[in-house]
This record gives sequence, C-alpha cells and structure tokens, in this order.
Amino acid sequence: MGKKLLIATIVLTIYTGFSTADAQKKQTYKHTVVLDAGHGGHDTGAVGKKGREKDVVLSIALKVGDYIKKNTPDTRVIYTRDDDFFVPLDERAAIANKNNADLFVSIHANSNKNTKPFGTETFAMGLHKSQSNLDVAQKENSVIVLEQDYNTKYEGFDPSSAESYIIFSLMQNVYLDKSLKLASMVQDEFREKAKRADRGVKQAGFLVLWHTKMPSVLIETGFISNEEEEKYLMSANGQDYLASAIYRAIRDYFASLEDEEREVKKATTVAQDDTEAASGENVLCYRLQVATTSVPVPNPTEKFSGKPDIFEYKDGSKYKYMIGRFSTLDEASAYKKTISAEYPDAFIVPFNNGKKISISEAKKLEKK
Ligand SMILES: [Zn+2]
Repeated sequence: MGKKLLIATIVLTIYTGFSTADAQKKQTYKHTVVLDAGHGGHDTGAVGKKGREKDVVLSIALKVGDYIKKNTPDTRVIYTRDDDFFVPLDERAAIANKNNADLFVSIHANSNKNTKPFGTETFAMGLHKSQSNLDVAQKENSVIVLEQDYNTKYEGFDPSSAESYIIFSLMQNVYLDKSLKLASMVQDEFREKAKRADRGVKQAGFLVLWHTKMPSVLIETGFISNEEEEKYLMSANGQDYLASAIYRAIRDYFASLEDEEREVKKATTVAQDDTEAASGENVLCYRLQVATTSVPVPNPTEKFSGKPDIFEYKDGSKYKYMIGRFSTLDEASAYKKTISAEYPDAFIVPFNNGKKISISEAKKLEKK
C-alpha cells in the first residue's frame, strides 16, 4: 500500500469511526449537563494553607463526570475545563448555551479571612438577601478583572461595587424554581450522605450564572480557609464523597423531571377521554381493569410498564387502573387471554363517551 493511500485509509477510518459514535451518542443522550470547575490557569481561586481552589474543584468536577458517565450513560457530560487552564466567566456560560445544556453546575470552594467558618452552600442566581451572600458573589466575580476588556464584556459591571448587584433584582429568572430545586437536592445529599455542615440554599448575583439559558447552580463545596475542611477538600476520600453527592443530586433531579413529564402525559390521557365524553359522539371502547386502590399509584407507567394505554379511572373513592384500549369486545377478550398469567383477575370494562357502562349496554352499542 502506498504511503498516501495508507494515510487516506487511516484518516477515513478515524473519521467514520468518530461520526458513527457521535451519531449513536446523539440518539442515546436524554440530558446534557455542563460541569464547570471554577477558576484555572493563572486564576488559582481561593488559597488555603496547602491547597488551591482551582485544583480541588477540578478533581471534584472530573469525579462527578466519571460518576455520571459510569452510572447514567444517557446523560451527556461537558466540561468547561478538564485541565488546569483559564476560562473567562462569560465563555463558561456560552459553552452551556451553545450545547443546549439542560443543567449548568459550577463547582467552587469557599474562603474567609476568619479561619473558623466551614460547611457547604449552594447558590441560585438572584439578588442576595444578606451581606455574607453578597460577599461570596463578590469574591467569585472578582476574577473577571483577570480578563481582558472585562469592562465591555460584562456591561460595565463592577464586581466590587454593591450597586452593580442591583441589576440582579430586575432580572426575571425563568429557571429559578428548577435551579432552587437542584440546589436543595445538592444540599440534602451533602448533609444526609456526605455528612457535611449545611449552610443552606442561597441566592446571589454570580456572573458565571448570569447568561446561562438553563437551570444553573453554583456550589461552594467547603471552606479551604478552614484547616479541617481544607484537609477534607484535598483528600481523595473527601472529593469522592462530595462528587458522588453532586452526582446523585443531578441524577435525581433529572429523574424527578421525567416523573413530572409522565404526570403531564397521564393528565393528557384523562383529558382525551373527557374530550370523547364532551364530543357527544358514541365513542365505545373496552379496557382491561387490572388493579383497584384506595390511594393513587404514584407512578402507573412504571408499575404497569410495557403495557399499552395505561389508564387511571377515579370511581367514587377508589382508583382503578386499566390497560389496553379496544373497539370490540372480541379484541378485548383476546387480549385478556394474553395477559391472564400476569393478571389472572383482570376483567373487561366497557366505556362509552368516557363513562363506564355494562357489558350488555356495550354489546347493544356495538351492534348499531
Ligand atoms: Zn471560586
């Protein structure tokens, strides 16, 4: 094989290899999360006795990404930095926007002149309610002075002037509810599983979150200025605990969104049946009743997973669950046989205009 041809073949192999993998990934990803390790390069962030914020938060961010890739491969992970280099704050948000991310998670470590404070806190974008919240935002935002022409880039924002922060009180944040939801899930994990001191969910004006077009949070994983906490933040074990806590919060956040979507879909199914009833037409169908409960099943689609046309029907004080939807009694009877092993007590319930009727009434209607 000639040298040129060999190179061409290699290039082609690499190229097709990449494009197929990319296409497959695009199909399988349900969510995209951007993990933003704060600071980097000539911006060290907060400095402790031995540790530097930029190193600690990079390790944690990479570990969070590893947990996600390993355990929830349908979530795509994008890092704003995966090594020790500087990324301007506005570029971090731009990376998330460009990739249509569903979530932006900025990871930091706190510091204080006083060596006593310790614990974790998670911020959503908004106007600070206390001086200490403003202090954290001012400290994190101050890094923009390391960027060239930061004055024009951040619209004249002065990170050290309290007046500059008034702008955030005018901001309408459509993602606030979801951002606060994730923030509290992160804090719950830190407190319950990683056993870290919980300083709470807070709001303040962080430039890195300002222009993100998705729910976004900034996590302060602990105080590098506190000797005990610095040790924890620098240890592989501590970083693992913090990273797995953040990973679980992200995982459960996405799962809870999916639950909400299912609820909406279920509500739509019920609404469709109401439409049938309201239309006044004779819409006859048969369903197979498979369960009756006095409290609603929290997640019917999961309980009866794989079954067609799952339908919840409130009958007096009872909740009845049906599967399948057929236009003739024969079809319904045939389906009943196929599920008899799994649901030996299943029985056919006819509906007309969305209302339950008897089998004999249904037979008469079917003849018409
Ligand atoms: Zn920071």
